[in-house]
Amino acid sequence: MSTRKPAFVAPPQDGPLPPWLQQQMLDLLQQRGHAWLLQGPSGLGQYAMALGLVRSWLCEQPQPDGSACGHCESCHGVEVRTHPDLFVLMPETQLQELNWPLGEKAQKDLDDKKRKPSKEIRIESMRDAVEFSQRTSSRNRGKAVLIYPAERMNHVTANALLKTLEEPPGDVRFVLATEAVHQLLPTIRSRCMSHTMAWPQQDQAAAWLVQQGLPAHDAAMLLQAAGGRPHDALALASQGVLAVNWKQLPQAAWNGQVTAFAGFTPLQAIDALQKICHDALLVRSGSTPRFFVPEDFPAAERLAGWNQLTRWSRQLARDRRSAEHPYKADLFLEDLLSQARLALQPRSQPAGRAAAPAVRPAATYR
Ligand SMILES: [Zn+2]
Repeated sequence: MSTRKPAFVAPPQDGPLPPWLQQQMLDLLQQRGHAWLLQGPSGLGQYAMALGLVRSWLCEQPQPDGSACGHCESCHGVEVRTHPDLFVLMPETQLQELNWPLGEKAQKDLDDKKRKPSKEIRIESMRDAVEFSQRTSSRNRGKAVLIYPAERMNHVTANALLKTLEEPPGDVRFVLATEAVHQLLPTIRSRCMSHTMAWPQQDQAAAWLVQQGLPAHDAAMLLQAAGGRPHDALALASQGVLAVNWKQLPQAAWNGQVTAFAGFTPLQAIDALQKICHDALLVRSGSTPRFFVPEDFPAAERLAGWNQLTRWSRQLARDRRSAEHPYKADLFLEDLLSQARLALQPRSQPAGRAAAPAVRPAATYR
């Protein structure tokens, strides 16, 4: 699959928090609790806020409101990812993406190409985290364990955490951040104080995206593309998707053009197609699209009817489940796009006549 040239490099999300996250973090700092679960849909800043929390917990000269000072040795240790009292528990792919060091053994295994980086939180890492939580703290500000994305714990890993969550050794605090809370074991959820991430005001979020370096036009369009979730908008931009690329997707899908989706992972492509499908239904019924603008779409009469579009919607939901590891990503994408073309273009089929299924499962290429 060809890759899109990154037109934008997002700054790392480990600095000062955007105002709406800062406020939520301050609220949590006022409350007692040794384990927080930050939950909500993707793109609302769960990871950034979890990191803000642990930084504040470990800071040696916290400000009067409880937030981190940003310049003590402890804050510095978090910043350069070497704080001895912080344990970051993530899948290896996520550690690499967010620039956290892997354990020595894991790093060596990967260097020696013994295995691929794990997409799940490994049981070995969980055991290390449990062992870490039983040690005494090095800097007298207690210890912190950050788990993200918490839904990447499987049953075994999650169960290994349960006892420590239930009876934590004195000075350790946990923050679990998730974008799919329904995938967590109920026993994990019930042992944490839960915080549902708040949505920012759209003008506030757009202003923040501009501060991150996006041109105002792209910021507004990508925020819409991300359904109002600023960290998802930033992720789109980091993948090289700017407003000009995004706006051409509905027409490209109508034409079945794969090139417009070059560089998308199967999951990202499905996500975009689900938004196109959602908006096509709105345009077809004379409403305003949510993720695009009306002129991005072919005229309503050139779009398929309600039944055909809702069938496609159901098919995309099924494809989504198999999209994480398709056998051949490029064939999967081609199939998705021919599916999209068949679904979006109206068919001149006499009503009521049994037709061959217009939408073939993309999963056939797995
Ligand atoms: Zn500090």
